[in-house]
Amino acid sequence: MQQASHPTVILGGGFAGLFTALHLSQQNYSQPIILIEQRDRFSFKPLLYELLSGELHSEQVYPRYKELLAGSRVTFVQDTVKSIDLNQRKVTVASGEVFHYGNLVLTLGGKTTYFNTPGAAEYAMPLTSGAEAIALRKHLRYRLHQAIQTQDAARRRLLLTVAIVGAGPAGIELACTLADLLPIWYDELGGDADEIRIVLVNRSREILKGDVNSHLRCTAQRALKNRVVPVDFLFDAAVTKIQADGIEYQQQDKNQLLPAGTIAWTAGTAPNPLLMELPVKNNRGRLIVTPTLQLPEFPEVFAAGDCATNSDAPQPPTAQVAYQQGKAIAHNLQRIEEGKPAVPMAIQMRGTLMKLGLNEGVANLFNKVQIKGQPGHFLREATYLQLLPNSARNLKVTTEWLTDELFQRHRSITHMQLGQTPLLSGIATVAAGVILATPLVWRAAQPTQFQQIFSWTGVPTLLNHLAPPSR
Ligand SMILES: Cc1cc2nc3c(=O)[nH]c(=O)nc-3n(C[C@H](O)[C@H](O)[C@H](O)COP(=O)(O)OP(=O)(O)OC[C@H]3O[C@@H](n4cnc5c(N)ncnc54)[C@H](O)[C@@H]3O)c2cc1C
Repeated sequence: MQQASHPTVILGGGFAGLFTALHLSQQNYSQPIILIEQRDRFSFKPLLYELLSGELHSEQVYPRYKELLAGSRVTFVQDTVKSIDLNQRKVTVASGEVFHYGNLVLTLGGKTTYFNTPGAAEYAMPLTSGAEAIALRKHLRYRLHQAIQTQDAARRRLLLTVAIVGAGPAGIELACTLADLLPIWYDELGGDADEIRIVLVNRSREILKGDVNSHLRCTAQRALKNRVVPVDFLFDAAVTKIQADGIEYQQQDKNQLLPAGTIAWTAGTAPNPLLMELPVKNNRGRLIVTPTLQLPEFPEVFAAGDCATNSDAPQPPTAQVAYQQGKAIAHNLQRIEEGKPAVPMAIQMRGTLMKLGLNEGVANLFNKVQIKGQPGHFLREATYLQLLPNSARNLKVTTEWLTDELFQRHRSITHMQLGQTPLLSGIATVAAGVILATPLVWRAAQPTQFQQIFSWTGVPTLLNHLAPPSR
């Protein structure tokens, strides 16, 4: 199966592809490893809101591949894949270069779809990459600057209205973040934060419809209402057109217009068109893979993440699944190199996490326990920071983050957002200390039970870094 002279080529450096490459590099894998990715930076998507808000630095959640892969055995090629020939075992990129492979890993993710809505591609702003998060931040800041300078009340209202299309997890997390953040930014400019309006626009009446987080509906709904500026809902609204300054929609057979200076789009993803051309089976655009994550028709090819599905055990398109699959593919490639058969992979669904505003989140453990508010926020960020690629960075980033949390780098934000006094802020700091101390005590008292319950969250590893257990 393996052609000795041909490398293992990985297409797409998202969660599945990057972690396949990093794990392969750390193993005893002797084949050359080539990662082909169109962008120069990795986007840690679950933390894009923190990039937008400035809660985390771009080096933390939007690092360059060059730096991430420095010192590894991975050859990084920044280029766009143009065609894949599975029969000839070759990949062609935009520059015309051709890569022959022994094994191929398809991890190209999906792409934003606007469902052919006129004007959406031109005027709506998606949020699927670091570049898009930064573009949205710039646009929002520009709108606030324009608003503060205008005396025309109707124009100011338009400039200060943000419409977010789609009430899935990304729409909700973005709405909660902006409903806390924009009042702070506008207040800094001397504006009246009460003039800001965030509107969540959805085709159906339900939020989180068909999503893994759907059981968090009540918690999310409450959070949307409890922001610095409560989020407005515009539901049962079918968006028919996007303009530069608003959304046209149909509600109860009536055509209506919502004027808005910013329109964010989180409404849908479609399969990568490149993969639709392959002579293999797919399920609504996701490549069908075996439990070992191989294409049944071409076992030298692995596929994972948002662009693949195992029909026997379908998984949601999430980062935690893609990350675990990347690790499993690296393991199987290693086995194949050693002449052993690939083994099926088991995904551990570790609960779900959502950001519900600045310093507020929810961690849903095993669909049973919900940890909300600031503890939920801590657990969510600790979990994701633990997943940041490159363990050396992890410790630094996590420590920086904890220091920021405990010493209140965002003091002004926290105060204004929560209407807190310094006394309350002090109490919050003590509470944060207690939140951190509790797992330490628990770990010391019942190490095995602690490990079993929290292993999925990354908290045990985080604590091991910060406070190694005594032997
Ligand atoms: C805003 C947002 C928030 C999210 N929050 C969460 C969350 O909280 N928890 C969670 O579990 N999941 C979350 N997700 C989902 C999660 O990020 C995805 O499931 C995950 O990124 C999928 O990983 P992947 O490797 O399959 O694809 P991706 O991460 O999308 O990576 C695909 C890569 O392929 C590259 N690529 C595509 N086409 C080409 C080409 N032709 N040539 C070269 N390169 C190409 C892309 O540039 C990209 O880097 C979120 C997603 C978004 C957008």
